[in-house]
Amino acid sequence: MDPIDTLETIAQEVRVCQKCNLHSTRKLSVPGEGPADAEIMFIGEGPGHNENEQGRPFVGAAGKFLEELLGKAGLKRKDVFICNVVKCRPPNNRDPEPQEIMACGKYLDRQIQAINPKMIVTLGRFSMARYFPNARISQIHGNASRVDGRLVVAMYHPAAALHQPLLRPELEKDFAGLANLLHPSAVMEPKPEPTAVQNQPVRSFLEVSEPYIHKPAGQPGFLDKIPEQPEPESDQTEPNDPKQMSLF
Ligand code: URA
Ligand code: SF4
Repeated sequence: MDPIDTLETIAQEVRVCQKCNLHSTRKLSVPGEGPADAEIMFIGEGPGHNENEQGRPFVGAAGKFLEELLGKAGLKRKDVFICNVVKCRPPNNRDPEPQEIMACGKYLDRQIQAINPKMIVTLGRFSMARYFPNARISQIHGNASRVDGRLVVAMYHPAAALHQPLLRPELEKDFAGLANLLHPSAVMEPKPEPTAVQNQPVRSFLEVSEPYIHKPAGQPGFLDKIPEQPEPESDQTEPNDPKQMSLF
């Protein structure tokens, strides 16, 4: 089946799904939306009030802010796929429960498989936990890691930044950084010296690999690797130091 048909099949299943208790309180399921060949996929937490009414993801205040943030990355909403870890609204916007996330995760897995995006951006801690179960969002937000052959970037949830104004500049900076990863004229810099990254978090949980460090001018593009660098001499830096994957 081609990806468009696959996504439509998934959406139809989601619309009538009763695999977890959330089905009993929802108005409309929210399968997600965007092009089947999107290069980048955004995964939020779950539908809120407006999404539950309309059956579309991120259409309330958080959605408006998300669209603004996408603009900072040079992206338009219509170019990206947007969905959630749970497709039905948790009552009163409570956190989704582990069994709900697990039940609904099959749909998300199939969406990711069908779209096969180059990059996944997680919004908030529930989608982050799919990829980085032991991470703290305050420590890894904005960093790009390679997981199963694609880049995964964890971001604060836009709704969190609406409630906590101090997070807003962080989120804006992280989205602006996405442009560097996505833009064909992005260029890679050598890894920074250890002194430049000493205060950044160690992320030993990552199933990673190569660092990606970009700046906005020059070549080459999206998924190219940073050339091998000599090991730093400082004993404060582990070999293959995941700290050095921080982009911003
Ligand atoms: N918050 C989410 O996590 N998802 C939505 O679709 C809307 C708000
Ligand atoms: Fe089905 Fe997911 Fe909705 Fe639960 S949240 S009823 S698993 S679509």
